[in-house]
Amino acid sequence: MKNVYLDNNATTRMADEVLNEMMPFLTERYGNPSSMHTFGGENRHNVDRARQQVADLLGCYADEIIFTGCGTESDNTAIRGIAHLDNKKRHIITTRVEHPAVRTTCRQLQREGFRLTELSVDEKGRLNLDELRQALTDDTALVTVMFANNESGVIFPLEQIAEIVKEHGAILHTDAVQVVGKIPVNLSRLPVDLLSFSGHKLHGPKGVGVLYVRRGTSLLPLLLGGHQEFGKRGGTENVAGIVGLGKACELAGAHLDEESERVGKLRDRLEQGIIKNCPDVKINGDVTARLPNTTNIGFEYIEGEAILLMLDRLGIAASSGSACTSGSLEPSHVLRAMGIPFTSVHGATRFSLSRYNTQEEIDYVIREIPAVIKRLRELSMFTPKDASPQAPYERKPEIALSPGLGERES
Ligand code: PLP
Repeated sequence: MKNVYLDNNATTRMADEVLNEMMPFLTERYGNPSSMHTFGGENRHNVDRARQQVADLLGCYADEIIFTGCGTESDNTAIRGIAHLDNKKRHIITTRVEHPAVRTTCRQLQREGFRLTELSVDEKGRLNLDELRQALTDDTALVTVMFANNESGVIFPLEQIAEIVKEHGAILHTDAVQVVGKIPVNLSRLPVDLLSFSGHKLHGPKGVGVLYVRRGTSLLPLLLGGHQEFGKRGGTENVAGIVGLGKACELAGAHLDEESERVGKLRDRLEQGIIKNCPDVKINGDVTARLPNTTNIGFEYIEGEAILLMLDRLGIAASSGSACTSGSLEPSHVLRAMGIPFTSVHGATRFSLSRYNTQEEIDYVIREIPAVIKRLRELSMFTPKDASPQAPYERKPEIALSPGLGERES
């Protein structure tokens, strides 16, 4: 059976070069970088080298890079670390389409007494910048807006957002977990204060993330403990993970332009092949400002989970736009915020590519998918008349769903 992995926004295959770089630190070079002896001190040097590799990819200074345990920790640290800094500023602005790492943290702060504004998006997943301008007030402590959406791939206009936020003197954080390594990010020109990303999304290891903190930005640490990471994140460094992440950044930076162009062409080939061969499909999200590796395709009148299961039997890994919880289908908050009709939301399927995908793999998917869609449409209880915007989102599924396909968290 073929094995075609098109779920790279969930996680990526670790590059061989990354694993090779990590191996010594998983075996004989186990010293603690904070130790005085050579055994540990040498590892300090490797952590610092990785910090420089990350900084080179982002166009910033090495001392602005804080290593964390994952993208979620970076997001939590940024949001909570700014929110609790000045108790006179009690307003936070975010969007309705953030990843749970940001959304849940902001909503928790709301429960703790902060005022929260969640900006809406239009049917293509785009932000209305006037809404942002109107939401900003003197007591806005933080604006946290993702760089690109994990489900639709839609890229937000961060430069314009930064300009607006800076006019009001608020701090700007961006969750760039889906961006770093896919498109260029240059923090010497992009005036965000904080930026998060994660090792496992760019062919690095799991269990390591980055929080960029612009020089001069104060931040309370989330993890209190030792003085590691400039006092902004306590805990002994994950040396192997950090070294691997540094290498992953170096590799991403070395081939960024060619790879994003090549991957973008494969994504377009996939999209066009599906549109040509399957009736009643729609691309969800703004195709003019989108990550090159992502497409979110709404197969009307069928269930995303059923599509995934049938694709899985063909060796194709993708991801769905709705989540199966306790027997009813809870569609993705992102696609709901975009106002996608429920007949399309349920069949939304995300294909996310990486530099390891080939044209042969994409052609295999294009060949196999029409029969899957045709078969599921024959079984479907949806009809085009269900497509009215008033139709309910939740309903009982007819097709047996796989247990354990939990809430979309990647
Ligand atoms: N933010 C976004 C946009 C993501 O897509 C993800 C993971 O899918 C995260 C944050 C969380 O990253 P991590 O899995 O490293 O905690």
